[in-house]
Amino acid sequence: MYNTATGNGIPRQQECHQSHATNGYLIPRRQSASLRRPRFVYNTHPMAQVTFLGAAGCVTGSKHLVAVGGKRLLVDCGLFQGGHELKDRNWQPLPADPKAIDWVVLTHAHLDHTGWLPRLVRAGFHGPVFADAATIELAEILLRDSAHLQEEDAEHAARGKYTRHATPLPLYTREDIDPVLRLLKAIPRAGSFIISPEFSLRSFDAGHILGSASLELTINEDGKRMVVVFSGDIGPYSQPILKPPQTPPQADFVLCESTYGDREHPGGSALDALADIVNRVAQRGGSIVIPSFAVGRTQTLMYLLRQLEDYHRIPHLPVYIDSPMAVSATDLYLRHREDHDVEFAREETSGNRDPLNTHEFHLTRTPEESKQINKVTSPCIILSASGMATGGRILFHLARRLPDRRNAVVLAGFQAEGTRGRALLEGTKMLRIHGQEVPVCAEVVEMGQLSAHAGKSELLRWLGGFATPPRMTFLVHGEPAAASALKTSVETALKWNVSIAAYLQTVELNA
Ligand SMILES: [Zn+2]
Repeated sequence: MYNTATGNGIPRQQECHQSHATNGYLIPRRQSASLRRPRFVYNTHPMAQVTFLGAAGCVTGSKHLVAVGGKRLLVDCGLFQGGHELKDRNWQPLPADPKAIDWVVLTHAHLDHTGWLPRLVRAGFHGPVFADAATIELAEILLRDSAHLQEEDAEHAARGKYTRHATPLPLYTREDIDPVLRLLKAIPRAGSFIISPEFSLRSFDAGHILGSASLELTINEDGKRMVVVFSGDIGPYSQPILKPPQTPPQADFVLCESTYGDREHPGGSALDALADIVNRVAQRGGSIVIPSFAVGRTQTLMYLLRQLEDYHRIPHLPVYIDSPMAVSATDLYLRHREDHDVEFAREETSGNRDPLNTHEFHLTRTPEESKQINKVTSPCIILSASGMATGGRILFHLARRLPDRRNAVVLAGFQAEGTRGRALLEGTKMLRIHGQEVPVCAEVVEMGQLSAHAGKSELLRWLGGFATPPRMTFLVHGEPAAASALKTSVETALKWNVSIAAYLQTVELNA
């Protein structure tokens, strides 16, 4: 039974239990009817409601459900990644009826924003999924690869008997992907796109990965108008290849990511940092393993490595991209010029026809080819997914290379709580991989300069780009410490109203 009174399709028992008012704006967290009688005058019916179905209290599983006048729009449909508690949520039914959701809209293609679509569709969602054209192409690659890797991991777990499940199953299979792809519909990169009488959208560059956007959602109901901005993932202003992020002009409400809300990225050039580590490891005869989301960071790394090679700052080492997905994604990066920043556009026209590939690179598509990399004993660089070492082929490379102190692991992206990447970052001496304890002797290097996310001051810069303060800013997509630190910073620096989104919380937005 769904609570139709709230119109959001969320079962009443799963709602949170507090309420408070901020500057006349009500944030109800459900209570019993008697307790819910407001002490303040509440003379308007809420125009819209947003329910945080993911990326609240964590950085994965992005799903924000907007309900207006009986219509429901889901912004992003991401996979939870991290510890068992988070991953188990992927197996649970969505706490809202998928059949009652009218539309999905995507901010970008990363799996923590798209990777639960196959489950949503399998559970009965059949409406359009709107996204940027590049996002649609990347999502196809990512979803097919995600299904493939899950099948591979489940098979491997069953063979090795190191799973806590009696019969390890993939969350979805390759057969689940085509029904999702049929629902994807492109929206314009600029200008307004009308979804329905209630909703229209505008996209703004987010500078995070190819096709990434912040979405300005205009809600119309009974002649009233309200603007809600979803930041998506915001890239750093100095991200190579892509245009920098752009703040929409105005918002009544903002849902802003807070991944690095408590941290700045290290200063200095990414090229210098990368040159140091490559030369250091090559000189001692070691290899570098880089857990890398195959979309985004792989292309950034290849671009930087190619520049270092061209400037003769590093030796020409073999680079192995152990993911068929990375290959296709690189083609897309070159093709979607509307996303390219000025420098990259100049690079492409300057005669460097292959700016995203190093001089000696190898693409490995099959598991057999992947295993061949184990036999390489001279210095090399290996890039493979997943980026937080939660699964995928990177685990085989880590198991093989971690015990040798000549090697290095470069952590270039955010490493969520509960992941092997986070354990490495925190200095673990043993890492459990495929049921075995692997000693960590290799050097572990964090390269925040390569992050695809804005650091704390860049998030403040993005927020500061709104012409007037939003009535409320909800912080999503951040671990508790990061969201809390950003809340304090925004309150202090911008004097805005800020609230940290809670998992399954519903908030009412008043015009
Ligand atoms: Zn992302």
